[in-house]
Amino acid sequence: MLPIERGLEIVMSVAKSKDRPDWMSAEPVPLADSMDRILREDILSDADSPRFDKAIRDGFAVRFEDVKQVPVALSIIGESRAGAGAEVTIKPGQCCEIMTGAPLPPGADAVVMVENTERVSPASVRILKSARENEGLLRRGAEAHAGDKILQAGRRIGLADLGLLAGVGKSAVLVSCKPRVAVIATGDELVDVHENPNADQIRNSNSYTICAQVKNAGGEPVSLGIARDNLDDLRSQIRRGFDYDMLIVSGGVSMGKYDLVETVFAEFGVEVLFDKIAMKPGKPTVFGHRGQTYIFGLPGNPISTMVAFHMFVRPLILFLLKAENTAPKVLDAKLEAPAKCDPERAALVPALVRFDAGQYWIRTAPWKGSSDLVGLSRANALIMIPRRDGTLEPGETTQFMFME
Ligand code: AMP
Ligand code: MG
Repeated sequence: MLPIERGLEIVMSVAKSKDRPDWMSAEPVPLADSMDRILREDILSDADSPRFDKAIRDGFAVRFEDVKQVPVALSIIGESRAGAGAEVTIKPGQCCEIMTGAPLPPGADAVVMVENTERVSPASVRILKSARENEGLLRRGAEAHAGDKILQAGRRIGLADLGLLAGVGKSAVLVSCKPRVAVIATGDELVDVHENPNADQIRNSNSYTICAQVKNAGGEPVSLGIARDNLDDLRSQIRRGFDYDMLIVSGGVSMGKYDLVETVFAEFGVEVLFDKIAMKPGKPTVFGHRGQTYIFGLPGNPISTMVAFHMFVRPLILFLLKAENTAPKVLDAKLEAPAKCDPERAALVPALVRFDAGQYWIRTAPWKGSSDLVGLSRANALIMIPRRDGTLEPGETTQFMFME
């Protein structure tokens, strides 16, 4: 059986070989809509930041030499406020009242915060505490210089990036277009969320979780609904999926008599690259392509679906978006309780992780297998148990992922 890493390599090599040089094209979006999108242009600072020597305290702009010996009285020769600097030059014995964000007047080289002063009269202040050179201020260009590259293409736009983009005047930002991803749930037992299942039925949850994972990865999900476990219904639903950049089918890929998804893939000439991965849960994961459409068949059990998506689909969506980081993010933790390995398959098991004394500590969470969403929702991570004999012992370092 194919190890997880090998499966991921196959997915990526197909993506790299597809004869579409620029997978997702780029589009400009208004700054306000750019959060979490993948940036497709390098961003240069349009000016020094800050643009001028700037006070970062409310107080008095002084010559630090003048406040070495305190207390000392200085004469106030002006006021510099945010948006309106003072037209003064500070000479020995003088200072200027100043507010946070205001330009530092020439001659001054420190700002004493107002809490460390005592106003004597409208034109005089007593400085009670000395200040080091450049204390209470930021020099022009301290954060970035005009022309510096402050963001690189491929980055997912985060909160600080959004603020930066605003700061450098990008009212529109070039980002990757979202791949359109069709999602089909299969199963005769499935009913929609607003319906009441009878004794043999369950509600379709995979369509919702898959669409949410697609969105979260940066794609645009389109739910095509439920296909029943018969060839006709599967054919007509799956055919619609080929109009999209990607098609994800959940369920119907195991060994059961009514698992017909692969049969229909074959009828349509889907080139299947693998249909089993040495992974628990998620063994019957199918990957292939047809024309420009990438195709996944994910096992129907809710947790298998999520884990298989996280390991194989999410990296592909990120690749298509030209994101700089595509691989699932793996972290180290110290094991707190033994975890049994399986020589056949690597396991990804719901786990409880906590951060303490400078590192992560992890233990498997109670769960009842790959349909147990209750167990998964009480966990906060997935522990990765390697494919081998024996047991991981407490104190061993093991890997885990936060599932996004
Ligand atoms: P399958 O992969 O079709 O054999 O399904 C495996 C298990 O997952 C079965 O217990 C199904 O009832 C369940 N299942 C399949 N599809 C869904 C779905 N869309 N939502 C929730 N559970 C599902
Ligand atoms: Mg099924």
